Amino acid sequence: MREDYCLGIESSADDFGVGIISFNGEVLANVNDVYIPERGGIHPREASRHHAMIASKVISEAFRRAGIKPKEIEVVAFSQGPGLGPCLRVGATVARALSSYLNKPLVGVNHCLAHIEIGKMVSKAIDPVTLYVSGGNTIVAAFEAKRYRVFGETLDIAIGNCLDVFAREAGLKPLSNKPLGAMVEELASRGKVFVRLPYTVKGMDMSFSGLLTAAVNIMREGKYSLEDLCFSLQEVAFSMLTEVTERALAHTEKPEVLLTGGVAANKRLQTMLKIMSDEHGARFCVVPREYATDNGAMIAWTGVLCYKFGMTIPIERSFVKMRWRLDEVEVPWVRTQNM
Ligand code: AMP
Ligand code: MG
Repeated sequence: MREDYCLGIESSADDFGVGIISFNGEVLANVNDVYIPERGGIHPREASRHHAMIASKVISEAFRRAGIKPKEIEVVAFSQGPGLGPCLRVGATVARALSSYLNKPLVGVNHCLAHIEIGKMVSKAIDPVTLYVSGGNTIVAAFEAKRYRVFGETLDIAIGNCLDVFAREAGLKPLSNKPLGAMVEELASRGKVFVRLPYTVKGMDMSFSGLLTAAVNIMREGKYSLEDLCFSLQEVAFSMLTEVTERALAHTEKPEVLLTGGVAANKRLQTMLKIMSDEHGARFCVVPREYATDNGAMIAWTGVLCYKFGMTIPIERSFVKMRWRLDEVEVPWVRTQNM
């Protein structure tokens, strides 16, 4: 029997990813190429240049690994937002070109929604409270009344960004196989002294910029080792994340906690959330790294779900939405335990 496939393109920040997935959720290919800045953080124009340069190579590689031909694709999906404008536009342009060339429908996928849906698919979670922590986002969300509601979020910078900037200030340089957050984690595992740092939870929202500034200032004083500072930074930041997730869990009484995004790779964060989930009798699910960081498979999978519910868009309305919030999207396919 002939299967239907969706091709999904992710390009909202530093990653350019292409995923090909069958309509029943089998990932045939998930190819990624990350832009690593020579120095400093992600420069949107430089990152978009990287994406434009490697796009065709990544797409060919995805088809090669999937072992299918372009004309076998039934629907083309792309990350429509939120994200960096120039980066999003590269993915959108490629998706529009493919969609019109193949004469197949186009789906614009909300990037945050895709993180939740692929997480649910790979971990078999049904109705979780999700903590989505990455370089650009920090969101606690759960499904209620047709949408994923944002229960808590960062008021300023994302947790991944906080760890990355701290690491850069300490003189660390990211490698293709070791992001800055992973370097902080390694140093933190050797930390012994807890250094007091500002803990900022306001209602259900968090702030990491004061924490970052304080940690950098103390580092410059040179009184504590980098190991102790990384340890303390992690303890404070991850406690804030756990507190807000716990409150969302207690309020919603959901059966699962789902941890996703690039920072989900962190073992200390996983441990804190697991202990908290166990105390509430909720199943703790962590998304494997391949699907936790930005990737094309998550866009392809959410593209399948959207397509099945008629959520396609004409090319002339497919402009990117840099500030597209998760809770703006109606999600017709979700069934919760209470429904
Ligand atoms: P994403 O934005 O989803 O592509 O994820 C990238 C972010 O995840 C960056 O801020 C990384 O530093 C961070 N990250 C990756 N691995 C780890 C880790 N083991 N611990 C903490 N942060 C991490
Ligand atoms: Mg990324």
